[in-house]
Amino acid sequence: MSKVKYRYNPETLSYDRIQKGFNYYFTRISIYLTSFLILGVILYFVYPYIFESPKEKRQAREIQQLLSQYDIMNKKLDQVESVLEDIELRDENIYRSIFQADSIPKTIRRAGFGGVNRYEHLEDMDNKELVTKTARRLDIVMKQLYVQSTSFDEVIELAKQKDEMIRSIPAIMPISNNDLRRTASGWGYRIHPIYKVRKFHYGMDFTAPTGTEVYATGDGVVSKITNEVRGYGKRVEIDHGFGYTTLYAHMNEFNVKMGQKVKRGEVIGYVGNTGTSTASHLHYEVIEKGRKVNPQHYYFKEELTAEQYDRMIQISSNSNQTFD
Ligand SMILES: [Zn+2]
Repeated sequence: MSKVKYRYNPETLSYDRIQKGFNYYFTRISIYLTSFLILGVILYFVYPYIFESPKEKRQAREIQQLLSQYDIMNKKLDQVESVLEDIELRDENIYRSIFQADSIPKTIRRAGFGGVNRYEHLEDMDNKELVTKTARRLDIVMKQLYVQSTSFDEVIELAKQKDEMIRSIPAIMPISNNDLRRTASGWGYRIHPIYKVRKFHYGMDFTAPTGTEVYATGDGVVSKITNEVRGYGKRVEIDHGFGYTTLYAHMNEFNVKMGQKVKRGEVIGYVGNTGTSTASHLHYEVIEKGRKVNPQHYYFKEELTAEQYDRMIQISSNSNQTFD
């Protein structure tokens, strides 16, 4: 029951009962409604700043989970990188060196992606550093894997050619030299027999009587035959493939023709004294990928004892004059 209200009327000197009309109620309801409305609007805008909605709570939890997933991913990437590094090391030091393949430079193995910023679309993320770092690491690992797999393709191809390669690489001495008496002068600075100055001797000289058989030191194809008055005199070159060429100089006579296929041990000519030469001898060179190398390292097939090998090295390095 609502209370009845009265108002004092000075004219009639009495209390009049207050009649609550439509206006009274309308005003009251309007005030209430407006207040609720204002409160509602305020709450609507302020609430999210103070309290999270269930959706926001779920999203926050998700972000947290994603971040920890990124952490786990980065730890796994650490492992992947270290396994890959180990594989690369083995690739370089074992597989590629067995097959004498060129090493793959670190700059290629570790190459990133230059030029355009591949991670631009991630720039406006709150956690852009973590995300771009991870994306970049993944990209690099992918590229590393690609380089590694092509390297293995190459090694597999080389392994398939292994037999041919073993037959082709120069691996014996070019003349019969069982007692090493024919080793005369080796690789390095020597006094030139004619010019009498110190010159680098890019091969190995074997003294032997004119007419001694000269052998191909590996399978290959005769790639050059020249007959010069000076220099190498009568010279044969054999292309063995796999980057190897051998050169036989100062011969007396050829036993092969240009383009002829030869087998290791096959007689390609006979020792002589042609070209710039002071005595009957064979000058022998091994050329690997266009670079002359010490033939001494290419006598794998010789059955030399350790002692004989030492003696050969001694003989070939002691001599201070070549036969050129
Ligand atoms: Zn020589």
